Amino acid sequence: MAELSSLLERFEASAISAIFNRAVVLRAEGRDLADFSTGEPHFDTPVHIRQAAKRAIDTGQTRYTGIAGRLDLRQAVGRKFRRDNALDYPPDQIVVSAGAKPLLFKVLQALAEPGSEVVIAAPLWPSHLGAIQLSGATPLIVETGAADDFKLTPPALAAAIGADTSCLLLCSPGNPSGAVYSSDELAALGQVLLDHPKVWVISDDLYEHIIFAGRRLATMASAEPRLFERTLTINGVSKGYAMTGWRIGYAGGPKPAIDAVRRIMSQSEGCPCSISQAAALAALDGPQDFLAEWSAHYEARLKRAVQVLARAPGLECPMPEGGFYLFPRCAGVIGKQAADGGKIASSSELARYLLDDWGVVVVPGPAFAADPHFRMSVALAEKELDKGLARIVEACAALASR
Ligand code: PLP
Repeated sequence: MAELSSLLERFEASAISAIFNRAVVLRAEGRDLADFSTGEPHFDTPVHIRQAAKRAIDTGQTRYTGIAGRLDLRQAVGRKFRRDNALDYPPDQIVVSAGAKPLLFKVLQALAEPGSEVVIAAPLWPSHLGAIQLSGATPLIVETGAADDFKLTPPALAAAIGADTSCLLLCSPGNPSGAVYSSDELAALGQVLLDHPKVWVISDDLYEHIIFAGRRLATMASAEPRLFERTLTINGVSKGYAMTGWRIGYAGGPKPAIDAVRRIMSQSEGCPCSISQAAALAALDGPQDFLAEWSAHYEARLKRAVQVLARAPGLECPMPEGGFYLFPRCAGVIGKQAADGGKIASSSELARYLLDDWGVVVVPGPAFAADPHFRMSVALAEKELDKGLARIVEACAALASR
């Protein structure tokens, strides 16, 4: 019998996609759902960006571009890095790819020696894990908790790094925790990294523009300039500019690393979509004022959701520092019983109970290597958000301690 590659044994399919697909099926069956599972803005892509894409089609910008993206787009990315992050990357130190997600896979392939270890803090975004596993490296997961605001601390990093470490993968604002590292916190982690000159840093800054309470994104390459030569700064237009379907992500970094990523792209991706590149150029060079407005909108929603969920018996839900997710701790409902007598033994069972009995879609903690928690996005239609929050409160109240 023909067999599948053993490569598949290294990693699981995305748990978030599995939940997303189940919700699609249930909705097609006519179920009334409040879906908190998707990780994308509910805003439409701004008009000026859509118009730039239409112009690209009408003026025949429909052919292959350079492998790492159009020169003018890489120049615009360079301007963005200078403007927002005080980072100086010339165009040949920038790659543009079909989304930050596929780019992360290529970056891990380029930097993580198979058999080496990649340090990553949990709660983590499942595709970070997938990218590490598929590269042939082993994830070294460092658990963090509410006491550390879900952030890696210098002592924990120092304990995790060893002779086999090839990379540290950082994500701020974090998905799912919403944790945001300050410049000082990054510099303190950087101090640890200075003792380990062979370790690369991969900084996933995708939620940069969704950040609260007057914070500004800090990123390792500028927080500790001595690490600039071994840090890849990854970002994209998906979350900030409501462009998830356009598939454009980018990275800046030292030339040898960027050349290596481009080499992998030359044999795999070819180039990112030419129309989407025109749209991304308009996004990065166009008006930026709506970013702060949208961020304030997410912040207000999250605050409201935290207030409502405070009434849900058994849940503890801190206000995140960035992103559009809540990551409530649900230890207080574990062990309780549903009306049908079923026991909620885990966050996965809680998610199943919320879906089957209440039509609420959330992603349980094991997907993020952090339990007992679940993740919920507040980037959904206002009415669906209110309906879903009320259902969660009712669902938790309906659980009996037996
Ligand atoms: N990085 C993080 C932390 C994410 O949460 C996501 C998407 O959910 C991505 C990267 C992927 O972004 P893109 O749409 O550019 O592939």
